[in-house]
Amino acid sequence: MASSRPNKPSSKRSSSTAGKKTPKVAPAEAAALEASSSQDWLTTEDGDYCTGFVFRYFSAGKRGERVETKPKAEARQAEEIIMQRVAHALKYRPDWMETLCCLDNGVEVRLYQGQGFKDEDLEIYLFGRTTVHGDDVILEFATDEVINGGRDIHDDVMDVVIHELVHLIDYLDDEDGVLPDWTADEGLLFWEQREHEWELLRNEKPTPLVPYALTNEVEFLAVLGEVFFMRSEELKAHNPILFNLMHKFFYPA
Ligand SMILES: [Zn+2]
Repeated sequence: MASSRPNKPSSKRSSSTAGKKTPKVAPAEAAALEASSSQDWLTTEDGDYCTGFVFRYFSAGKRGERVETKPKAEARQAEEIIMQRVAHALKYRPDWMETLCCLDNGVEVRLYQGQGFKDEDLEIYLFGRTTVHGDDVILEFATDEVINGGRDIHDDVMDVVIHELVHLIDYLDDEDGVLPDWTADEGLLFWEQREHEWELLRNEKPTPLVPYALTNEVEFLAVLGEVFFMRSEELKAHNPILFNLMHKFFYPA
């Protein structure tokens, strides 16, 4: 975890969310299931208690339904990787780390262990998903994908943790498909460069971005986030404008 003390959160949402909270899991159940959270960020500079990241673990039941269970070794490994990747990405954004940790119910992270899930939406368990419904903020990950990701070995999804983290930050600010902190002019620059990159992808011209970025505005931003962290130099050489915009958010001066 980052060692510096968090600043006051910058987002509107977080300013009213600090306070003593309990994870959504009932206490007895929580103990039995060993739900755990990121300890370093539970107390803010002002002494407020925040929920942090609360992990829950699932395995596939007989009919492919998800069954909440205890974590296997792989899930613990994935949990560690998730917190490392998040801490790495937000190393220079302690304000955002605090914002996430101090959401009303914290960030619930559901880890799907192993295979065999029969998924209603077909895609949930393949990689990951981010859901923001009012105060319920849920990240879902396939444990295997977390462990195998972040190594630039996939063609499409290079780092599922960064991908979902970018979605989360994107969903928590006002406008979808852009990062907070960009000025109107920067938003316009981003819009132009997104059109440019989409054009390259549609015509199968070289770009470090992958075709999944064509899905829509929010997926473009999430894929760009992956590329920014995983293929940084390549992005910088290919499209310095997009690189600088991402840099401005994750590495503010
Ligand atoms: Zn996505």
